[in-house]
Amino acid sequence: MALLGERVSFDEPMSKHTSLRVGGPADAFARPASRAELARVIALCREHELPLHVLGAGFNTIVPDAGLRALVLRLSGLRTLERDDAGGVRAESGASHSSVTRFCAAQGLSGLEFAVGIPGSVGGWLAMNAGIGSREMKDVVDRIELMDPVTGHVQELEAEQIRFRYRALEVPAHSVLLAARFRMQPAEPNEIRARMRQLLTKRRESQPLNRLSCGSVFKNPPGDAAGRLIESAGLKGQRAGGAEISTVHANFIVNRGEATTVDVLQLVDRARTEVLRQFGIELEPEVRVLGEES
Ligand SMILES: Cc1cc2nc3c(=O)[nH]c(=O)nc-3n(C[C@H](O)[C@H](O)[C@H](O)COP(=O)(O)OP(=O)(O)OC[C@H]3O[C@@H](n4cnc5c(N)ncnc54)[C@H](O)[C@@H]3O)c2cc1C
Repeated sequence: MALLGERVSFDEPMSKHTSLRVGGPADAFARPASRAELARVIALCREHELPLHVLGAGFNTIVPDAGLRALVLRLSGLRTLERDDAGGVRAESGASHSSVTRFCAAQGLSGLEFAVGIPGSVGGWLAMNAGIGSREMKDVVDRIELMDPVTGHVQELEAEQIRFRYRALEVPAHSVLLAARFRMQPAEPNEIRARMRQLLTKRRESQPLNRLSCGSVFKNPPGDAAGRLIESAGLKGQRAGGAEISTVHANFIVNRGEATTVDVLQLVDRARTEVLRQFGIELEPEVRVLGEES
């Protein structure tokens, strides 16, 4: 791994890279600065039979306390943003949510305002088909570039080939998402910024944004809201070790300071079991456990 210099570290605590601040060490953690470096990392993992997992900005992901006997890849070095001739925006996967939404507003390009408060990276937005209300990535993404984890081959998927699902994207297992093109419409920068401010204010009123969390823990079941069900089951404020079901929004688990992944998973299990027992509804996790993705 000498080829990456400071951009690789060993025994790296994943708690430093997840918004819930939980998770043990990964054997190796690499932040390639270019596609060529990324391809070399993938080739090395293959050669040494080292499993590879891709982490975005860690806002919807937890890592087991025991850590990962794997290389965790973070694409924060690949974050180019550019406007194309047709008025779309091409963003590399490592670009942060705030850099993308700021860029769009400055360029007078509307379409991604809904994502202003969805923290993460473009890679995480795509993998999760992130969204709010009736808007999600599916509505704005018309091209994706991805790298095959085995061969390093880069492929482009056009709109009709992209299989977004509710909070998921179907691609071959362990594919590395490299970039996306967002379809945008021209608008006044100040109007875009005003809409973004409104959405952020609404969020601050309904989510525990001043606490460490990983966003929504469960997907909403058809016709209902996971938060409503967990609250109705009487679980708001319940604790396991250092983790707590948020008193502000019951579909959020917050870290009170010393939480472990086991504490968080205990609450996930409790919420799932109680909602099933009381309402006969099976909640499906939205949060991902790194290393357990299919
Ligand atoms: C306060 C708060 C509010 C939130 N509100 C919302 C909301 O309104 N709507 C919503 O949808 N989500 C919300 N979330 C969850 C989170 O913001 C989104 O899921 C976001 O898309 C995660 O992006 P990330 O880069 O942090 O992804 P990560 O959590 O790092 O990764 C998520 C998944 O994507 C995969 N992945 C990431 N990058 C790549 C890549 N380049 N290639 C392949 N796979 C990749 C990871 O392996 C993992 O399976 C919220 C989270 C918080 C903390």
